[in-house]
Amino acid sequence: MTVVGFVGLGKMGLPMAARLVAAGYRVRAYDISRQTIPEGIDVTEDVTAVAEGAEAVVLMLPDSDAVEAVLDGAGLLAALAPGTVLIDMGSSQPLRTRALAARAAERAVRLVDAPVSGGVKGAVDGTLTIMTGGDQDDLDRVRPLLETLGGRVLRLGPVGAGHALKALNNLMSATHLLITAEALLAGQRFGLDPETMLAAVNGSSGRSGSTENKWPNFVLPGTFDSGFGLRLMLKDMRIAVELAEATGVAPRLGRACADLWSDAAEHLPPAADHTEIVRWLQE
Ligand code: NAD
Repeated sequence: MTVVGFVGLGKMGLPMAARLVAAGYRVRAYDISRQTIPEGIDVTEDVTAVAEGAEAVVLMLPDSDAVEAVLDGAGLLAALAPGTVLIDMGSSQPLRTRALAARAAERAVRLVDAPVSGGVKGAVDGTLTIMTGGDQDDLDRVRPLLETLGGRVLRLGPVGAGHALKALNNLMSATHLLITAEALLAGQRFGLDPETMLAAVNGSSGRSGSTENKWPNFVLPGTFDSGFGLRLMLKDMRIAVELAEATGVAPRLGRACADLWSDAAEHLPPAADHTEIVRWLQE
């Protein structure tokens, strides 16, 4: 049985690790915070123990700081056997990912960045879109594992390419969510019904993932429970804005949007869902 190491059993990591177990992988997993873990996942006491016998190790951590804390601070990189493929599936910073790949290569550890889109539902159903960066040979080795987690496994380019596109995707997504909130609030104050407006927009050019998924499923029912934190979204927007600036693009809209999300983060509780930006705007 193929052994897979897994670090980060949060909202996304837990259902992803459970899918690997269901597909027949032996999963050795670690998370810094203790929680109830479903049967079938071997939880290790120490993060370095996830490396034992593992051909691949998946990281599903909040950001690049956590990735480096695990690999360098807690010593996981030094514990990986030469030839191991390390797969960073969280949304990390592309330039830090490239630097990490170079350090990993010194130990003959291969790095593939493979961030995901599709939310907690996609993680549970195995329908995530996986945006990868890395060498083709490395991706080929872990493709069966990735296909257990997502229906679409796309190679975008060398290492860091997946993390770059994931951040840019989320900058677009966050901007769509906010502009939808402004537009629908104006429509509502003008006397229009939100559901009727959405039905019309979803057959028109203003539609997006926000109008097709987030509004009907998390905003209109008032549950605000997509499972993706507001601060994680803001982190991705900042990565994208920085990336745009580094390439010489002046991301004026992106920066303005990130500033609004940053205001919201100051006023909403630490665990706020990203869809609560709508409630913040309405209030
Ligand atoms: P989460 O906060 O629910 O989970 C992160 C987990 O990492 C937590 O359980 C935390 O205890 C653990 N962790 C943090 N630091 C650690 C350390 N040093 N050692 C071991 N474990 C540590 O976050 P999430 O929603 O699962 O998101 C994970 C990543 O996926 C993020 O980069 C996020 O941006 C991205 N993402 C999330 C979603 C979503 O819908 N939630 C969708 C796509 C991408």
